[in-house]
Amino acid sequence: MRSNNLVIYNSLHRQKELFRPLHEGHAGMYVCGPTVYGDGHLGHARPAITFDVLFRYLTHLGYKVRYVRNITDVGHLEHDADEGEDKIAKKARLEQLEPMEVVQMYLNRYHAAMKRLNVLPPSIEPHASGHIIEQIEYIKRIIEAGYAYESNGSVYFDVPRYNADHNYGKLSGRNIDELLTETRALDGQQEKRHPADFALWKKASPEHIMRWPSPWSDGFPGWHLECSTMSEKYLGQQFDIHGGGMDLKFPHHECEIAQTVAANGNESVRYWMHNNMITINGQKMGKSLGNFITLDEFFTGSHKLLDQAYSPMTIRFFILMAHYRSTVDFSNDALRDAEKAYDRMLQGWRRLESLKPSETSSVDAEIEAVEQACYEAMDDDLNTPIVISHLFEAVSIINRVNDGHATATQADIDRLRRIFSTFLFDIMGMRPEESAAGEETLKPYRDAVDLLLQIRAEAKGKKDWATSDLIRDRLASIGFAVKDTRDGGFEWNLK
Ligand code: ZN
Repeated sequence: MRSNNLVIYNSLHRQKELFRPLHEGHAGMYVCGPTVYGDGHLGHARPAITFDVLFRYLTHLGYKVRYVRNITDVGHLEHDADEGEDKIAKKARLEQLEPMEVVQMYLNRYHAAMKRLNVLPPSIEPHASGHIIEQIEYIKRIIEAGYAYESNGSVYFDVPRYNADHNYGKLSGRNIDELLTETRALDGQQEKRHPADFALWKKASPEHIMRWPSPWSDGFPGWHLECSTMSEKYLGQQFDIHGGGMDLKFPHHECEIAQTVAANGNESVRYWMHNNMITINGQKMGKSLGNFITLDEFFTGSHKLLDQAYSPMTIRFFILMAHYRSTVDFSNDALRDAEKAYDRMLQGWRRLESLKPSETSSVDAEIEAVEQACYEAMDDDLNTPIVISHLFEAVSIINRVNDGHATATQADIDRLRRIFSTFLFDIMGMRPEESAAGEETLKPYRDAVDLLLQIRAEAKGKKDWATSDLIRDRLASIGFAVKDTRDGGFEWNLK
């Protein structure tokens, strides 16, 4: 195992802390997964990619990682949903489908999009609907501890009572007095003793399809409960890392903390990590704003705000070009820049294959510094933009050797290859085969350009300079830069 110098930002303590796992050599992480309704969109991509990089890096460091990412398939009531009806149940009623059929359909699409983004599947992907019994038992513990009450068949968490004994709001930094004035009128508010109280169990209305029996009513669990229940079931009463988008800090994660402290007397999470949000052309994403772009729309370019299709690797690279705690603003210009940047990086990496090793090296110290700097950047709270800038330094070393301005030994070339395979592919999860514009689509074009250049090489061999120059100039005029190499061969790329 590599010595662990990983420092991560703990949202709870609002500072960077050295990562020390609960159990030697093991790391447990829980990340709030998607609410399975609607097609995977950009907002899903960021936490998935952020925590995929953490999962990959912890694994690279030698930890045995258990990564749990839940699927919210019940009980997530949106405030603006029609009469508080569960969205999945509503869709099922409208399309005459089984609720679980709807869940599966969206889940399959989500998984397909994640696969294209090269996001590794988690170790366990538990469904909220598959853990109703555990959630009911959890509610009983909170009631026994005195922090929840039943009201008209529903069960609510008693926030003021909890706040009197513990500190409600410690993660988000809110206080209960502010909450009092901020809390809007919610469905079923008249059942609550306090507007800030939140549902642990909701009694189902007669038309509600997804429902389960409980000691209080036929109903369904509140959204916050599934994460407290399933993280405990699979990671224990205490575990290392809990992640999610910043928008989940309040109320979701705040409620999770309150539930676990109420049920167990202790907090469960040692490191809270939150990724920042995504904006599109400087605006928040939202259905009403018309900028709610699904991942498939990005991959096909079929949304009206998009000038072109962007490959999954362009999206992933673009997200990694920002630190996970910074906002990311999507625009066509920014995505095109990311596409070009990744293409340039891949060209450098591919050029490694044609480098001629020398007996001596003028770049060995530089290569060592790049590798060291990549580790330091990853250890510094997963600073992927800095890793990317160091990988571009590696590209510049490759170019200098290729141009004959520097020399590299076979060991240097192997080490450069290892730097790319470790940091670009294994840890940042980029894929080499899918270049920015889509490697498979480009294959015939690449072959055609190679063919033209073969013909040019033959013309040159016969000293037919006119044909040779014609081919080079005509390729240049349609955007291909052709370069003759020292060994009499050629290289080309898109300008
Ligand atoms: Zn959650």
